[in-house]
Amino acid sequence: MTHALFLPHARLDDLIRQVQSAGYRVIGPKLEAGVIHYAELNVAAELPWGWQAEQTPGRYRLHRSQQTLAFAWAAPAQGLKPWFFAPVEPLWRLRRTPDGFGLEPCLPDAKPIAVLGARACDLAAVARQDRILEHDPHYQARRQDALFIALHCTHPAASCFCTSAGTGPRASRFDLGLTELDTGFVLEVGSPRGGKLIEPLALAGATADQIQAAQTAVAAAAAQQTRRLPAGDLAGRLAACIDHPRWDAVAQRCLACGNCTQACPTCFCHARRETASADGQSAEHSRHWDSCFGELHGHLAGFQVRPQTAQRYRQWLTHKLGNWWAQFGASGCVGCGRCLTWCPAGIDLTEEVAAVLGEAPCGR
Ligand code: SF4
Ligand code: SF4
Repeated sequence: MTHALFLPHARLDDLIRQVQSAGYRVIGPKLEAGVIHYAELNVAAELPWGWQAEQTPGRYRLHRSQQTLAFAWAAPAQGLKPWFFAPVEPLWRLRRTPDGFGLEPCLPDAKPIAVLGARACDLAAVARQDRILEHDPHYQARRQDALFIALHCTHPAASCFCTSAGTGPRASRFDLGLTELDTGFVLEVGSPRGGKLIEPLALAGATADQIQAAQTAVAAAAAQQTRRLPAGDLAGRLAACIDHPRWDAVAQRCLACGNCTQACPTCFCHARRETASADGQSAEHSRHWDSCFGELHGHLAGFQVRPQTAQRYRQWLTHKLGNWWAQFGASGCVGCGRCLTWCPAGIDLTEEVAAVLGEAPCGR
């Protein structure tokens, strides 16, 4: 960080107004329904000021904090996935016409969004989904003009392991990047579009002390993480452990509920369904998120290829950490920790992969 500006907390609304007047819907963290999650945001007062989120396997609790920071907590309950890759959406409709059927595409008419406070892990997940859904017009309609105001993490949860996943806690690609200090944010410009956006704010430069404090806080967040992914060629190492007894052991606990896949910001499996109207005049072709833990996911050509939970858990973990590399040139895990937090059985991916590979579970 060679040059940076300083945005006082009191001027966060100026930034939000500036983004709104540039034509964006602002999405940011909000406390709703007992969790902090990304939601539409109009003013800075809607941010979760003074809250912290405790996250451990199978547990999520909010606590009031002594500090009055806006971002003193880690990954929101859900990532950015639903904002670009809708959980359920129509892809096209057919309508009966006098000479047959007419096809109506259903592209979303989406106003571009600006994400305020996008975490490094979530930005890494968006980059992975960009690769997978590169030719998906529905995804691209929401994604192509999105603006990202990143938040370099200074308060990781116990469930986080972005450092070992190589994705955080500092975000690497953004339009604007924020690091929160007690009275405001050290602000970095990451793109010409971001720079243009803040020009009218005429912000003062950050002092050397502020820049140093921001760097120290992010480095401390990295050092605080105790969970980690094993290093090395995980694809090859996991392929050699396909018959490990740990798959059966974890299946004794796993409910095959699919929560982990729904909470995961990179999981992209989906299914399609046709719904015909009762009068036979139209039909809709839609898609919805699916999960490799579900019964139908492994039902191929009349056979169930993964009848047991052990096979489904193994498929999920070996695909995500191993086979993704050959398919997409990256891991399917960005280390956000959501699959740990939102697993009702408290199953910890880092512990499971370490056990399968015969390693100690990350020094905890
Ligand atoms: S690992 Fe946990 S969240 Fe995932 S399917 Fe099993 S019980 Fe559900
Ligand atoms: S596998 Fe778990 S920790 Fe990794 S990106 Fe998905 S939800 Fe996050």
